[in-house]
Amino acid sequence: MKVPFVSFLPMERELNKELRDAFDRVFTRSWYIEGAEDEAFEKAFAEYCTTNYCVGVGNGLDALMLALKALNVGEGDEVIVPSNTYIATALAVTYVGASLVFVEPDIRTFNIDPAKIEAAITDKTKAIMPVHLYGQACDMDPIMEIAKKYNLYVIEDCAQAHGATYKGKKVGSFGDASGFSFYPGKNLGALGDAGATVTNNKELAEKVRALGNYGSDYKYHHIHQGNNSRLDEMQAAFLAAKLPHLERMNVERRRIAQKYLDGIKNPEVILPFVPEDIVPVWHIFGIRCKRRAELEKFLNDKGIVTNKHYPIPMHLQDCYKDLGYKEGDFPIAEVISATELSIPMYYGMTDEEIQYVIDAINEFR
Ligand SMILES: *Cc1c(COP(=O)(O)O)cnc(C)c1O
Repeated sequence: MKVPFVSFLPMERELNKELRDAFDRVFTRSWYIEGAEDEAFEKAFAEYCTTNYCVGVGNGLDALMLALKALNVGEGDEVIVPSNTYIATALAVTYVGASLVFVEPDIRTFNIDPAKIEAAITDKTKAIMPVHLYGQACDMDPIMEIAKKYNLYVIEDCAQAHGATYKGKKVGSFGDASGFSFYPGKNLGALGDAGATVTNNKELAEKVRALGNYGSDYKYHHIHQGNNSRLDEMQAAFLAAKLPHLERMNVERRRIAQKYLDGIKNPEVILPFVPEDIVPVWHIFGIRCKRRAELEKFLNDKGIVTNKHYPIPMHLQDCYKDLGYKEGDFPIAEVISATELSIPMYYGMTDEEIQYVIDAINEFR
């Protein structure tokens, strides 16, 4: 048996007609940038996130970067970011010229540990960027409390968590602004690159839109030195076709995750921990194992494709060499990097495949 790490096939088979119809609609209209599709998707996605505004942009990195830029976070400012996340979170901060301040995660949830945030705050701190990693919401109450106490912006990185909730409230609706990615592999994925910033703040939404459109408020009038980062009509139409299915596809991911949680019984393996009050959407199912390399090879030899999120923590990446960090500076992020193994998780996994993965992990000695 072969189990891929991720497959789009089951979803594409089911939504084949809807996606082709979306293509035809845009192609027939022959209008590709800034139009009715973008507008319709933005409205639907804002509603889904329970926020007032959604601005479609080119990708998830820009969704975060433009939000920071719109909030005037830049040179001389510090932004608190978890030490365990995808590089894009950090790149958004350094692109706008601000400085990274890493805070360690809670090793059980992989997400930023609110108890460690206050110690990282200085008089230069401007914002906190919680990342709802692997599809699990961060502990938002204490994060919002700290932000309020120190007058900091909160920009949520929701790239892996479309639809996840904390105490019944959707991620993306807590902070001043939130960034989503619709990279094809995300829980809601386009058929190419796409992203969105959501917010409840009208001025901020308008500024993000202007910044992503050459800094113009109306055609050929430029109020900011902007970027070109727009959600094109074709991707907006695909996303609008897929959005009504997101909720049930997330439910299916939870069913798979529950099977893993109930079925995997191996003392060598640490399963992900889900705190009460959080409903995750399982973008990634990450287990931990001290003998990860051996487990990885064991599963790969059985035809099960695995992945690592992420093999090199950000503070040890070459691109951030100048920050002067060394091994040992963020031990929790380093332990996660050295022990995390992501196992197959995607909409449409069959029960046989799920069981095959469970049995293989349980066989590992
Ligand atoms: C995917 C991802 C991003 C970036 O999204 P892109 O659309 O690839 O630019 C940002 N943050 C996290 C946590 C991600 O997983």
